[in-house]
Amino acid sequence: MEFLGDSAFSALVKKLKPKQNLLAVSKLQPIEKIEILHAKGQKNFAENYIQEAIEKTKVLKNLDIEWHLIGPIQKNKVKLLQNHFAYIHSVDSLELAKKISEKALEIDYIQKVFIQINLAEEATKSGLQKAEFLNQWQQFKGLKGIEVVGLMTMPPLENDAEKNRIYFKELKKLGDQLNLHELSMGTSQDYEVALEEGATWIRIGTMLFGERLKK
Ligand SMILES: *Cc1c(COP(=O)(O)O)cnc(C)c1O
Repeated sequence: MEFLGDSAFSALVKKLKPKQNLLAVSKLQPIEKIEILHAKGQKNFAENYIQEAIEKTKVLKNLDIEWHLIGPIQKNKVKLLQNHFAYIHSVDSLELAKKISEKALEIDYIQKVFIQINLAEEATKSGLQKAEFLNQWQQFKGLKGIEVVGLMTMPPLENDAEKNRIYFKELKKLGDQLNLHELSMGTSQDYEVALEEGATWIRIGTMLFGERLKK
């Protein structure tokens, strides 16, 4: 895939209705590509790896970018967090949420987060199982240093996006049930289906930036 065959970005933006947001996933992509996309008007960028992310926020601190963290977070890395991220999408346990909350309170910050739900109950994917999350919801809500704005999911990578529709529907239903209206779902492979099912944040990497470097 060409990097920003220009058309990719404008075509994506055209498909968005109010309340649907494009998150440009820039993990393992060079700074220059972020600068180009930002110059075209993109404000929200997402990274997976805390150290790489923090490095990029420093290098690009003069740009009005809102940074999002979407990758799994090791608990011993939470100490690195300051107010780098507008949103963290990958909170996948109550324990992690508590740590982030404590850290945020320490620096006088309210960290906005999404709770990552593993709807397909795949052993290899991170995310809380739905039942476990429902049991713990009151405890999540009680944490003072975080604000839970919504739910995130990363369904099985199927070449057939239609197969992921049931998971997007399920996340929407769970969000409605708890009055959580932000839904972070859909990647380059299946964002159209995710938008149809109520995504408010689609996370697009490859389609915007081209193939990324290997970690
Ligand atoms: C890398 C990544 C994406 C972007 O995937 P693409 O297929 O490149 O669009 C979205 N969400 C998460 C959690 C990711 O790790």
